[in-house]
Amino acid sequence: MYNFVQFAKARVKICDTKIFPHCTAPTLIKNRFTANQKQQFYCKTCTKRCIDFYTNNGYGKEINAHIVMLIKEGMGIRSMARILCISTTTLLKRIVFIAKGVQSPPISSSQIYEVDEMRTFLRHKGKVIWIVYALDRVNKNVISFAVGSRTKKTLNQVIKTVVLSNPKRIYTDGLIHYKFLIHNTIHKVTRFGTNRIERKNLSLRTQLKRLNRRSICFSKSLLVLSAVLRIYFWSR
Ligand SMILES: [Zn+2]
Repeated sequence: MYNFVQFAKARVKICDTKIFPHCTAPTLIKNRFTANQKQQFYCKTCTKRCIDFYTNNGYGKEINAHIVMLIKEGMGIRSMARILCISTTTLLKRIVFIAKGVQSPPISSSQIYEVDEMRTFLRHKGKVIWIVYALDRVNKNVISFAVGSRTKKTLNQVIKTVVLSNPKRIYTDGLIHYKFLIHNTIHKVTRFGTNRIERKNLSLRTQLKRLNRRSICFSKSLLVLSAVLRIYFWSR
């Protein structure tokens, strides 16, 4: 996807060349100076303004792609900010922004799914929160996920999407709530039935910094946790 040299170059100076971020065929005229005395340009095509050389790395063209890559490689917020030379505030905003643009995949009908919950916390261990998600057993794609307390309401957000796709079977663990949410003709609770999703849990624990065990990294906000999960599951 990206080679290391490309990435290292980007890290040192992302904004070495002229960047016209708004449109592909800009018609530029000079238009005043910015607050720190840089020449500003006005684009007649898209009526937006830009400058010659951006020194703020947050404006780099490939910064979003780098953020997505680093999230998936198990990096925390602060380490990403250090490597990309941007502030943590910019980074968090960007993560939320990127996640908004990520679409959930189309669901193929009549498949076999596994649904499971994963325990994590916000801010401190007392504030427990659960990640509920459904995995397609055949192509290992995550169909739907929800973050919240371990209640019917949260579980139902995921189950609803799965049931809409007209599944053959839904495998879950023995949690009592599932009994009331899934019709017993398609619901299965068997030994080894959720092996694939349990394995996926291990991938999540390894590849997302905030879900690592025995570390001092953790999520502070539900918004960013959901955004990171959305990017991890569905970007590209
Ligand atoms: Zn333009």
